[in-house]
Amino acid sequence: MEFLILYEDQVRLFSFAGVLAVMALLENLFPRRQRRAPTARRWGVNLALTAINTVTLRLLFPLLAVEWAALMTTHDIGLAPLLGVPYWAACLVGIALLDLVIYAQHAAFHHIPFLWRFHRVHHADLEVDVTTGVRFHPGEIVLSMLIKFATIALLGVPAAAVVAFEVLLNATSLFHHANLALPRAVDRVLRLVIVTPDVHRVHHSTIRAETDSNFGFSVTWWDRLFGTFRAEPSAGHTGMEIGLAEYRVPAQQGLLWVCALPAYQNPPPAGR
Ligand SMILES: [Zn+2]
Repeated sequence: MEFLILYEDQVRLFSFAGVLAVMALLENLFPRRQRRAPTARRWGVNLALTAINTVTLRLLFPLLAVEWAALMTTHDIGLAPLLGVPYWAACLVGIALLDLVIYAQHAAFHHIPFLWRFHRVHHADLEVDVTTGVRFHPGEIVLSMLIKFATIALLGVPAAAVVAFEVLLNATSLFHHANLALPRAVDRVLRLVIVTPDVHRVHHSTIRAETDSNFGFSVTWWDRLFGTFRAEPSAGHTGMEIGLAEYRVPAQQGLLWVCALPAYQNPPPAGR
């Protein structure tokens, strides 16, 4: 696990670029749905948001999550050191609990109107593919980071577990957003444990009851446990409509428009 701390930057960059490239290739070879929205424009907006988010985090946070975790451990802050939990157990339980927090946070971003204003940006994408996995408003990214810092301090998650969790979260997000047609039998087995593209696509339906399901990022267990799991979209994967019913015109898909979206309670007039 120490390897993860030593080579944190390289591990994160390599896994992000690697999974992004592999998923982009696979979804083009084996697409699940025919794309209806213009891909170049969507990719431009989604990847620009990734760049903005990376810069925003560097500017606003003097410490990365892993450095924050190391600082907490040095000062014996958090439940794990308080209870004398062995290192390996603190890592495993830490990863599982960080994942549960992400599940709860995702549900909160759907059900609390102020938070939904930010998370709408992720759902306003008119298609779901690998780049949707990194399409988040900077406001949501900053709020997520604050929640992550608080969770790490409360639980006392070891630094190596934080890196492992972040790599896992990033990889699973890219994977389950991919427009990838997995063989049905493979999907059936995988979804018993992990969130597959077919499981997560339900979450991007324009039908609100379907949007408010399948909040999990890596495993499907939290959704099954808390009753938010939905196996299939009612219109089927090729027939379902993706995005938000109120944001469908091309003028509502530009980068500036997407960045300004949280300022509006209701959809702004198209063209602004
Ligand atoms: Zn969502």
